[in-house]
Amino acid sequence: MIIRETLSYDDVLLVPKYSNIISRSEVDIATSLSPDMIYEFPVISAPMDTVTEESMGIAMAQAGGLGVVHRYNSIEEQRVMCWNILDSGYGTPTAAVGVTGDYLERASELVSIGVQILCLDVAHGHHALMKDAIGKIKSEHDVHIMAGNVATKKSFEDLARWGADSIRVGIGGGSICSTRIQTGHGVPGFQSILDCFRADTKRDVKIIADGGIKTSGDMVKAFAAGADFVMVGSMLAGTDESPGESFVNINGDRVKNYRGMASKEAQINWRGSVGSHEGVSTFIPHRGPVVPILEEIKRGLRSGFSYSGARNLLELQANAEFVIQTSSGLAESHTHIMDRFGG
Ligand code: IMP
Repeated sequence: MIIRETLSYDDVLLVPKYSNIISRSEVDIATSLSPDMIYEFPVISAPMDTVTEESMGIAMAQAGGLGVVHRYNSIEEQRVMCWNILDSGYGTPTAAVGVTGDYLERASELVSIGVQILCLDVAHGHHALMKDAIGKIKSEHDVHIMAGNVATKKSFEDLARWGADSIRVGIGGGSICSTRIQTGHGVPGFQSILDCFRADTKRDVKIIADGGIKTSGDMVKAFAAGADFVMVGSMLAGTDESPGESFVNINGDRVKNYRGMASKEAQINWRGSVGSHEGVSTFIPHRGPVVPILEEIKRGLRSGFSYSGARNLLELQANAEFVIQTSSGLAESHTHIMDRFGG
C-alpha cells in the first residue's frame, strides 16, 4: 500500500513576486496546443450538454479560446454544430468522441468537415480502450488528440506514449462530480497538475487542468503548477450561450440546468436508462451573456500573472512559489466582513 499527502487548489496560495509590469495589458495569456495551434485565451469549455454546443463553441472561439462540443447527440447533430462553429470564422471547434460504439464513424465525419482536434472523452482515461482508440484514430487521421481524463504522472506518460497530444488532467474534482463519493477514487486536481508537470513526456504533450476550477485565482494556480490550459464547466454554465432553456423557479429566480454527464438525469436523456451514476444535476442562476464572464476571467488572469511578476505562461511557471495555507488562511482568503457584521 502507498499513502501520501496531496494538495488541492484551496490548500495553496502563490507568493507575490517583484514586478516591473507597468500595465496589465503587457501580460500575454496566450498558450498553444502545438507550434501552429496558438490560442489567445487559455480556457476550454467542457464537453457537457449544459455547457458546450454551437453558441458556446462560437463564443469561446471568438474569445480566443476553445469549446469542446459534447458527444451526447447524433453524429449529424454534432457535425452541424461543428460545421457552424467552423463557418463562424472565429476558430476551430473540438468534438468530443468516445472510445467505444460509433466513435470511429463520428471521428471520420468530424474530420471530413475540417475538425482538427478530437477530444477522446472518457471518465477513466488510463484504460486499454483508450490505447486502442488513440491508435485507431491516429492510423486513420492526421488530427490533434486531446485525451483523458487522468490523475497521475504514470497515466499521463502512458497516454502520451499511446499518441495523445494533449491530456485532460483531473479525476473526481468537478463541481457536479460524485465519483469520489461513489467510488472512493480520485486525486485533488491541483496535485494532479503538479504530478503530471513532472512527467517524462511533458515537454511535447499539453496539460489541460480539468474539474473543480471555481475562480480565475484557481486558474492562475493551475497555470503556475504546470497547466497549459484550463477546462471549465460550472464557470460558464447558466449563461445565454450554454445549451438549454432558462425558467423561473418557485422562489422567483431565473435558473438553468447544469448537470454531470454521468448524472442519472443525463443518462436517462441520452441513453434512456441509468447505469452507475457519478454526477449530479442541479439548477444554477441564469447569468446572462457569457462574454462579460470571459472578460472578467481574462482580467483576473492578467492580474494574477502580474502578481507573480510574469509577462506570460512560461514566466509564471518559472517564478511560481507556492505556500500551503491553513484553514484559518483559507478563511482569511475569502472576504470575511460578512462573518463579523452579517449582510
Ligand atoms: P467543473 O468545471 O468543476 O464544473 O467541472 C467540469 C468537469 O467535470 C468536466 O470537464 C468533466 O471533466 C467533469 N464531469 C462532467 N460530468 C461529470 C460527471 O457526471 N461526473 C464526474 N465528472 C464529470
